Amino acid sequence: MGKEITVCLSFDFDAISVWAGPRGTKAAPLIARGEFGEVGAERLVDLFDARHIPTTWFIPGHTIDTYPEICRRVASAGHEIGYHGYCHEAPSSTRDEYDERQILERSIECIERISGRPPAGHRLPGGNPGTRWVNMLLEHGFSYDSSMAPRDFEPTYMRLGDVVRTDGPHEFGAPVDLVILPFDWILDDWPYFNYEPHGGRQRLRSPNDVYDIWAAEFHYLHEKLETGVYVLTMHPQCIGKGSRMLMLERLIDYFEQHTGVTFSTMSAVADTFRARKPL
Ligand SMILES: [Zn+2]
Repeated sequence: MGKEITVCLSFDFDAISVWAGPRGTKAAPLIARGEFGEVGAERLVDLFDARHIPTTWFIPGHTIDTYPEICRRVASAGHEIGYHGYCHEAPSSTRDEYDERQILERSIECIERISGRPPAGHRLPGGNPGTRWVNMLLEHGFSYDSSMAPRDFEPTYMRLGDVVRTDGPHEFGAPVDLVILPFDWILDDWPYFNYEPHGGRQRLRSPNDVYDIWAAEFHYLHEKLETGVYVLTMHPQCIGKGSRMLMLERLIDYFEQHTGVTFSTMSAVADTFRARKPL
């Protein structure tokens, strides 16, 4: 069998939501970093228009309500739009089911408003999905989640009912009809490119370092494993800077030099996986 690698370029278009929501800040310099996400998003849509590459965008409702024009542009350029909270909320045991449902449904409505359809994909803005949240996703017809990576380059099914034990082996629960597409920090731009002055250890990484890591992950998949899905997660406010955009273009060139590589939306990957390996 020949090589079959699907590359999914995905974007968490957090914009201001990640600063206003989980960070709870009103500080103009931090809000401004979120604002830059709009600039980054414009650059990215231009790039993918020119290269004819379909991509997947997880967009909080807050971003859609704040920047409807660029979000419409993303959707009308044919990119997939997935769920990423209203204001970047993680599911929480301190919120009741009614409040969680409000966040989910309000965000779905925002996505329907700009794209004309409900989201098939879900990426958790941090935290642990939990049984209640996963059941709500199933109830709302989500096809896949991309918030964890039990396999680095392979889709799997979400499980419910795991029992985490320390006095014996882990007890695995039963799979449910929600595909997991890998999300892993190694293939995410945030840990490399998001600098927080008072955040301690972190320092900015060179785009060349990040190119080396991302290209080597791809190389291993292509050479050793030969089939799989390669999901890259980026944030317009991080990747949208000039030096990083040039790195991303170089990386796309590198992918395209290989045989058996296609670019796809994540929902198409989930559909193919489900058709080949139904639950
Ligand atoms: Zn996010």
